[in-house]
Amino acid sequence: MATPRDLPVVLTGDRTTGPLHLGHYVGSLKSRLALQDSHRQFLLLADAQALTDNADDPGRIARHVIEVALDYLAVGIDPGKSVVCVQSRLPALAELTVLYMNYVTVSRLERNPTVKQEIVQRGFQRDIPAGFLCYPVAQAADITAFKAELVPVGEDQLPMIEQSNEIVRRINRLAGRNVLPEARALVSSTGRLPGIDGQSKMSKSAGNAIPLSASPDEIRSAVRAMFTDPGHLRASDPGRVEGHVVFTYLDAFDESPGEVEELKAHYRRGGLGDVVLKGRLDARLQVLLGPIRERRAELARRPDFVMDVVRSGTERAAAVTQETLDEVRDALGVFGFGRA
Ligand code: ATP
Ligand code: MG
Repeated sequence: MATPRDLPVVLTGDRTTGPLHLGHYVGSLKSRLALQDSHRQFLLLADAQALTDNADDPGRIARHVIEVALDYLAVGIDPGKSVVCVQSRLPALAELTVLYMNYVTVSRLERNPTVKQEIVQRGFQRDIPAGFLCYPVAQAADITAFKAELVPVGEDQLPMIEQSNEIVRRINRLAGRNVLPEARALVSSTGRLPGIDGQSKMSKSAGNAIPLSASPDEIRSAVRAMFTDPGHLRASDPGRVEGHVVFTYLDAFDESPGEVEELKAHYRRGGLGDVVLKGRLDARLQVLLGPIRERRAELARRPDFVMDVVRSGTERAAAVTQETLDEVRDALGVFGFGRA
């Protein structure tokens, strides 16, 4: 029988900036649930990375460590199968970041398309925190410290994996052998779920999200507020499906894709009102999120259990990441002063 150590390693993480939302569910959590039986899976509560653009609000970042852990357990992450750990409590990650920083140039960091887009969104200019510009390096430290081979992420994370692999190749070349594995992204079929405004991706920081913990009323009003086709004034008008957020969500969440295709054809022809579509989506989301919300409420009544899951996971992760740091140090012959 394969021991957990023989299984391929999966790493993912979430910034502890706010509650997880439907974008996380389709972009990454669903894959994590599927992988936890067949892989050795680590889930990183990325509080250090969250601070890179939230340095003025450290309390919120700290508070959401446990909130995001609750979200994990509520969707079905099983602490007997997956390791949940806290980034800032893993010193090997910080040491690897310091080391890798020497193998990445500022111009390479500025070329990262996701970072570029996030800089515009946040309105950063020369006042950009150095930690924010460099967070892809820290993310490379995260991925490699666990020797992750598979990283289930949303589409926005592809440039991060590419950048991490560049660092891996550089380290392996210097070491003269493959100390670190390259990682492969696993992108879900939905890719990037837009926010309810249809403007950009659903994101904790953009105020356009439906959290996994949303109440029935919050779900209903979020669906009601969804962007549809502005040219579709009466139900009898022919409508456009492209860019229609309700259809995008039906594609992501409805369990009868055939029926959704028929609805699209009907909408294009005319004679189908947005109210009908919104009603269908609302019903589907209520069914999906209801049990998650209930499990979350149950777990919230057992704070010691949740704390234990995170504490023991972080201890296990500390051992794994320290081992990798030692190997990289030995292979490069750096940071070795005073060691036997
Ligand atoms: P923030 O606004 O603080 O950056 P976020 O909502 O973007 O938060 P992250 O913690 O940055 O969430 O992302 C965690 C993971 O979830 C990443 O793998 C990311 O690709 C995925 N993800 C986040 N939002 C979406 C989305 N709307 N669609 C698909 N995947 C997503
Ligand atoms: Mg993000």
